[in-house]
Amino acid sequence: MKRNILIMTTTLMFFSCAKKQPARPTAQEEQFDYNVEQFADLEILRYQVTDWDSLSLQQKSLVYCLNEAALYGRDILFDQNNRYNLAIRRTLEAIYANYKGDTASTEYQAFVTYLKRVWFSSGIHHHYGAEKFLPEFTPEFFADAVKSLDSALVPRRENQSVDAFLAEITPVMFQPELYAKKISQDSGVDVIAGSANNYYGEGVTQKDVELFYGAMKNPADSTPVPFGLNSRLIKEDGKLAEEVYKIGGLYSQAIEKIVYWLEEAGKYAENARQKKVIELLVDFYRTGDLKTYDEYAIAWVKDTESVVDFVNGFTESYGDALGLKASWEASVNFKDLQATAKTKIIGENARWFEDHSPVAPQFKKESVKGVSAKTITATILGGDCYPATPIGINLPNSNWIRKEYGSKSVTINNITEAYGKAAAGNEFLDEFVCSPAEKEIMENFGLQTDNLHTSLHECLGHASGQLLPGVDPDALKVYGSTIEEARADLFGLYYIADPKMLEIALLDNPEAYKAEYYKYMMNGLITQLSRIEPGKQIEEAHMRNRSLIAHWVLEHGQADKVVELVKKDGKTYVVINDYEKMRTLIGNLLAEIQRIKSEGDFKAARELVEQYGVKVNPDLHKEVSERYDKLGIAPYKGFVNPVYEAVRDRQGSIIDVKISYKEGYAEQMMRYSKDYSPLPTYNSLF
Ligand code: ZN
Repeated sequence: MKRNILIMTTTLMFFSCAKKQPARPTAQEEQFDYNVEQFADLEILRYQVTDWDSLSLQQKSLVYCLNEAALYGRDILFDQNNRYNLAIRRTLEAIYANYKGDTASTEYQAFVTYLKRVWFSSGIHHHYGAEKFLPEFTPEFFADAVKSLDSALVPRRENQSVDAFLAEITPVMFQPELYAKKISQDSGVDVIAGSANNYYGEGVTQKDVELFYGAMKNPADSTPVPFGLNSRLIKEDGKLAEEVYKIGGLYSQAIEKIVYWLEEAGKYAENARQKKVIELLVDFYRTGDLKTYDEYAIAWVKDTESVVDFVNGFTESYGDALGLKASWEASVNFKDLQATAKTKIIGENARWFEDHSPVAPQFKKESVKGVSAKTITATILGGDCYPATPIGINLPNSNWIRKEYGSKSVTINNITEAYGKAAAGNEFLDEFVCSPAEKEIMENFGLQTDNLHTSLHECLGHASGQLLPGVDPDALKVYGSTIEEARADLFGLYYIADPKMLEIALLDNPEAYKAEYYKYMMNGLITQLSRIEPGKQIEEAHMRNRSLIAHWVLEHGQADKVVELVKKDGKTYVVINDYEKMRTLIGNLLAEIQRIKSEGDFKAARELVEQYGVKVNPDLHKEVSERYDKLGIAPYKGFVNPVYEAVRDRQGSIIDVKISYKEGYAEQMMRYSKDYSPLPTYNSLF
C-alpha cells in the first residue's frame, strides 16, 4: 500500500495571519509579490526561497542540477494522466503562440483559460476532483484555430491529415462522456475500465489487474517490492504485459534527461551517502528494477545529514484507483535549520505518542523506528507536485521499509508561508466562522496549529501503528487511501489537544488547539464543499477523509450536542459546544480506524467511507458555493517556480547560481514546454 503521503491542507490559505507576521515587514518582503493570477477555480501564487544565500556554491550547484532533473519529467505526468494530454497540450500551445485572430474575443479568452487549466492539471481532468473539465469555446473555434496553423505545428500521428487529427482529438476535449473521469472510485463499477488515466491499456479490467499483481505476491515475503509501481499494464492478444518506465522502455526520452542531470548532481553531492542515493536512483531509472528502487528508498531514508534533499520519481499512487501505479513527481529542497529544531521535538517524542495513543495495544508499533522530521525550503516543484503542491511529505511508502528503517517526514515552510501571506486580509473567516470568539482563536493560533497538525499528521500519524501479521497491505483496496489519511489526521487531531504539546513547548496556549478543531469541522462539514462540482460526490481521498471524520464526530456527538450545525439568516455554521468531548470522540474514531487498517477489515472501511465520507448534501452545497462566489476566493492554489540561472566559467564549471522571481504563469509553462519536453506526443500503444 503506497500512500502515507502528501497531505494538502486546504484551508490554510484562508487564515488572515496578521498577528503572526512581524510588525514591520522588511524591505525585501514588501517587494515580494506572492499573488500571480487567478482564473477558473484556481489561484496562482509565488513562493520565496528564503535563505538561498546561506547555501555554499557546491550546495547551490547540487540544487541546480536536481532542479533540472525535476523539470524534465513534466511530460511523463501529462501522458500518465491521459494518453491524449500531450497532443492536446501541444495543439493548444501552438495556437497560443501563433494566434492571429482577435485576442479580445470571448472565445479566445475562454481558450486561454482552458489552456491554463490544462497546464495546471497536467491534462484535461481536474487536478483534484479528477473529472474532465470542458472547454467554454466552441469546437468550431478550435477547428478554425488548428486549421490556420502551419500544419507542421499540429502534433499529428505519422501520415495523419489535419482533418483526421481534429476528428480524433475534438471529442476527447468536448464530449462529456468520453474519458469523463481520470480516476473512478465508484463502488459497483470496474474502477480500471472506468478511469481515463493511462496506467492501463485498452481492455484491461479491474479483475485482470487484481489477478496479475495478486499472482506476484508471496504472503511469506516480508520485504515485497511495490509491484506494478513503474509500469503501464497492457493487454495484447488477451495476454497481460507490463511496459516498464525506464531507459529503453516507456518514457525513455524523458528519463534519459533526468538521469543526465542526476549524474551531474552526483558530482556535487554533499557526502558519500547522498552520492550513493543518487547512484541507486540512476540505476533504477536504467533498469526499472523494483528491488533497486527499494534499495534506493532505504539509502534515501538513511540520509538525514545532508542539507539538500530531493524527491524524483514514480512516487504516489493516488492517481490509480487500485493504488498500484505511481505518478511521476519531483521536488528539491534544503533544510530550514531553525524551524527544524521544532519539528525534531516531535520525532524525539515519537515513542511517547505511540505509547499513549487510544489505539488497542496489539495495533501499536512495538518499536518506533527513527521518524526523522525536518522543516524544509522548497527550491523547485515538478511533476505531480507542480503547480499544486503538498505542504508536507512523508516517504517512502513501502510498509516494510517504514517499519525497518523509518521514514522521512517534512513540512515545507516556504510554501506554507506563501499561502499565509497571499491570503492575508481575506474575508473568509468573517463569512464562515460562527462567532467572534472562535474567529479570534483562529486568527491568533490558526496558522500555528495548522502547521503543527501537518507535522503531527506526517511525522507521527502515518508512521504510527502496525498491521497484524499476514494482513495484506492492499486489503482495503479503493478505501485504503482514505482510511490511511484519516488515521494520520486523527492522530494529529488527538494529540494537538494534549497537554504534552505545552510541556514540550510546541504550543504555548492551552486554548490554541481549538483553532484546529474548529477549522477541521468547518472544513469537513461545510467549506470543502466549495471544491465539489454541482451534482457530484466526494472523490478525492483527503477530502473523503475530512468528510468522514467530521460527519462521524457530528453524528456520534449528537446526543450530547458536542458539535452542531446551526442556521443563522439562511447561512449554516458549525458550533462546537464541548471541545473536550470532541477530543474523546476523535480518540474513539482513531482506535476504530487503526483497527480497520491493522486487521485489513475491508467491509468496515467501506461502510465508514460510504456512509460518512462520500455524500454531499445538495442544499448545503448550493449555499456554500454561493457564499464562496461572493467572496471571490479560488478554492485551489498552485505555484510558479523561481527561475534559476547557472553562471559558468570558460571551462564550463558552475561559479554561481542566480535566482529570480519575475516569471509569469503562462510564460513559465510555455518555457517548460519548449525547454523541458523530450517525449514524443504519442507514447503508448493505443
Ligand atoms: Zn497524509
